[in-house]
Amino acid sequence: MDPKDTIFAKIVAGTIPCKKVYEDEYCLAFHDINPVAPVHVVLIPKTPIGGIDDAQESHAETLGKMMVNVPTIAKLVGISESGYRLVVNEGLNGQQSVRWLHIHVLGGRQMNWPPG
Ligand code: C5P
Repeated sequence: MDPKDTIFAKIVAGTIPCKKVYEDEYCLAFHDINPVAPVHVVLIPKTPIGGIDDAQESHAETLGKMMVNVPTIAKLVGISESGYRLVVNEGLNGQQSVRWLHIHVLGGRQMNWPPG
């Protein structure tokens, strides 16, 4: 699917609401509509990238800014001190359901390893 046809494209465009945590010119972070942890934030680029497998050199600045913003987002939702997990699902086996690149920020409970 073209990322421009996904629900996250509509969230970035502002035509579908979200519970915003953080926003800048590169990215947007919001509370996941179906949380799998006490704290579950989705961090997405504002530019359409289908998934991490579509990452290109031209995306390096955006992807870098997203990662650099993670500590700020973690502080905003109160999981900085206890720790958290980042997850990027890619494609079929990765169980990606929305074809717009996103980083899950999960916290508020003990995570398990290996992941399911
Ligand atoms: O990695 P995956 O593609 O499965 O993650 C998509 C995530 O987007 C899900 O956790 C889902 O709950 C979330 N979502 C959301 N708001 C929507 C649609 C999906 O937070 N409107």
